[in-house]
Amino acid sequence: MHYFLDVVLPIPLERLFTYKISEQEADFLEVGMRVAVPFGKSKIYTALAYNIHNNPPLAYEAKEIYQILDEKPLVNKIQVRHWEWIARYYMCTLGEVVRSALPSAFLLESETLVLPNKDVTVDELDLKDDEFLVYEAFQHQTVLKIGEISGIVDKKNVLPLVNRLVQKGIVIQKEELYEQYRPKLVRYVKLGKEFQTDAKLEELLLDLSRAPKQSQVVLALFQMQAVTKKPIPIADLEKESGSSRAIIKALIDKSILEEYHIRTDRVQFDGESNSINGITLNSYQTEALTTINKSFTENKVALLHGVTSSGKTEVYIKLIEQSLELGKQALYLLPEIALTSQLIGRLRSYFGNKVSVYHSKYSIHERVEVWNNVKDNSDKAQIVIGARSSLFLPFSNLGLVVVDEEHESSFKQFDPAPRYHARDAAIVLATYHNAHCVLGSATPSIESMDNAKKGKYGYASINYRYGDVLMPDITLVDIKEATRKKRMKGHFSETLFNAIGETLEGGEQVILFQNRRGFAPIIECTTCGNVNQCPNCDVSLTYHQHRNQLRCHYCGYHMALQHACLACGSPTLDKKGFGTEQIQEELKQLFPDTNVGRMDLDTTRGKYAYEKIITAFEQQEMDILVGTQMVTKGLDFRNVNLVGIMNADSLLNFPDYRAHERSFQLLTQVAGRAGRTKKRGKVLVQTYNPYHQILQQVTTNSYNKMFEEQQYEREKFKYPPIVRIIKLTLKDKDYNKLNEAAQWFASSLQNVLGQQILGPEYPPVARIRRDYLKNILIKTPKSQSIAQTKNSIKGIEKSFNAISKYKSVRLVYNVDHI
Ligand code: ADP
Ligand code: ZN
Ligand code: ZN
Repeated sequence: MHYFLDVVLPIPLERLFTYKISEQEADFLEVGMRVAVPFGKSKIYTALAYNIHNNPPLAYEAKEIYQILDEKPLVNKIQVRHWEWIARYYMCTLGEVVRSALPSAFLLESETLVLPNKDVTVDELDLKDDEFLVYEAFQHQTVLKIGEISGIVDKKNVLPLVNRLVQKGIVIQKEELYEQYRPKLVRYVKLGKEFQTDAKLEELLLDLSRAPKQSQVVLALFQMQAVTKKPIPIADLEKESGSSRAIIKALIDKSILEEYHIRTDRVQFDGESNSINGITLNSYQTEALTTINKSFTENKVALLHGVTSSGKTEVYIKLIEQSLELGKQALYLLPEIALTSQLIGRLRSYFGNKVSVYHSKYSIHERVEVWNNVKDNSDKAQIVIGARSSLFLPFSNLGLVVVDEEHESSFKQFDPAPRYHARDAAIVLATYHNAHCVLGSATPSIESMDNAKKGKYGYASINYRYGDVLMPDITLVDIKEATRKKRMKGHFSETLFNAIGETLEGGEQVILFQNRRGFAPIIECTTCGNVNQCPNCDVSLTYHQHRNQLRCHYCGYHMALQHACLACGSPTLDKKGFGTEQIQEELKQLFPDTNVGRMDLDTTRGKYAYEKIITAFEQQEMDILVGTQMVTKGLDFRNVNLVGIMNADSLLNFPDYRAHERSFQLLTQVAGRAGRTKKRGKVLVQTYNPYHQILQQVTTNSYNKMFEEQQYEREKFKYPPIVRIIKLTLKDKDYNKLNEAAQWFASSLQNVLGQQILGPEYPPVARIRRDYLKNILIKTPKSQSIAQTKNSIKGIEKSFNAISKYKSVRLVYNVDHI
């Protein structure tokens, strides 16, 4: 009897690939184990065992596998089932899902690059012969492909060897290097608790009268605290009091002063309790919890619709607690950018080291660790908080999935495949585990609300902020009028300018939101009207003042700013539009003594860069924070009392059927950053169009009106959730070929599917990275089978692929979220 193994290769193959195995291997192997296999002429891949059987493949001679890499499955059956669903639903291959799902350390292949680990000292005597050969090679070489190692040890299959070396820490896998910055733990001091009253302080100073240097420090601190409400860094106290570290340390040792760090302090600073019992839900939260639990007993997903700062997190914490009590794991999903140490700290303060974190800015090594902990159902990974990729983890015993900020479009992965939506994939995952699932948002997506209204989801709402804090007061500022009356200072209306001044005077902070980064999106020649375009993409270049460059935001192309027009040579160039960089610049002129920080893609690239800005702002090292979308995400700053939207119109005018929904969500979320303590926060929205219905709905906090209107529009123009939508994008470097191919595809779809085809059409940016793009939209009524539509499309794709002149044309599918 012959034995065969079907494997999933981590590449875009439509089918499984079959290898020959021995009887012993067939006995040992289980689905979800990894095997090293040869592929093509000389490649080695790590593949996933899928199926063991006795049928040789018909089309080719099966090769033998090289080796089994695991003792136990690395991937469980529920995962495989879930990944198959993802591949089917989002129209990609299982291999592509596997490549995305597994940390790359689990997928060593001949092309993987490895480097010596400089942090370890290697005892050569401990090395086996083949290990030594590799170690020796690294004395002369800084990086090697696994394929090259194969040559060095003169063995075809070196994956087990490299695996061993990785395990021993002798080599590491090359990965994108993140900034090596560790957040600087600024040390602050305050008077010890005991001495915070005037009487006690006086007593203390009397006591210290024989230690003049110490009393000088205490006095200095006292005076500094009288001037500023901000935390006082030890370094500042040292300078101000003219004393030394040693003296301050002595005071700290005596508990007269208290030292604290930003990180640990944050948790206690709010007076938050450190145990779950310490959370007492208010009546609105309690009611929401009861409603959610009721939907759970009916086996429904629950939607928690709670205004910003209503205390949704506390409700999740209670739900997680319930799940833990049943001995089950919980997954807390967040958009990448909202995953801050603020929230992680909060969860850790309740659940201690039961909380693991998983997201893309973690190193390969850290991700492997979390993977293994989840797989072993270890205590450390009872709760995983993570970005979308954490739904690929090997949960065996999942009891609860929380999808926070469920409306966030960044839950959708756009590139590469699988182009899945994490919220929707999470709901399916929960079903496969028989787990409960709660979606939360202050501004639910139209889809989720639609499901709630239809009774498919349970629905709980909290309409009040926690602790009687009022909803922010949102005012629209007509900048058309202000411009006409010449009441603008740069991009600031007088109203906004004055409000910023008042807020700063009151010792409070300001957040300003502007949708675009860079300095100015367009530099135009006033003589001939020429605008510099990206040579690779169909967009104009954005001016970045800081680097004095013009940059493309699609492909990264950049060039130095020219002093004369490239077309006509005229030196009069005009900057049009504005980005975050320009706002920051203007603020420096308008408010010379304030610290202005900026948070956008340009300032947050490294692993900790984002944290660094948040922490600095939180510690009031900045007075004003200017930012893009990033400032809208779930941050909880206590001292922010004013939020300004520089220009709401660019959001509203975006050419996308979701633009209005998104604008409402974004503006409401950013407004929610204001006034999270007792005082009522203020929000000013600058616009040329103050009568726009969405802006009216934002100011009056009318989610329901927004929902009804959007629902009506979607009905009228046939968009989700009324229909299901698939977008097919065709890409090619050759303009004519692309047009022809797109026409061919659209006509074929039209023949098979009839009315529901739109396009082919150029997207707003019709060329990216030298590829021309064309879109075809396929709309399927809810009454019709989407699976069948997909089958038809795949059928057409097959015929398409058989046409040799279209060979270079690439096809990209996006399902639901386009
Ligand atoms: P949301 O996620 O709905 O925007 P949060 O969960 O961040 O709101 O809550 C807002 C603030 O109110 C937080 O500082 C939180 O600590 C506090 N809070 C909410 N509910 C409670 C509670 N039951 N007990 C104590 N503090 C609470
Ligand atoms: Zn010109
Ligand atoms: Zn470009």
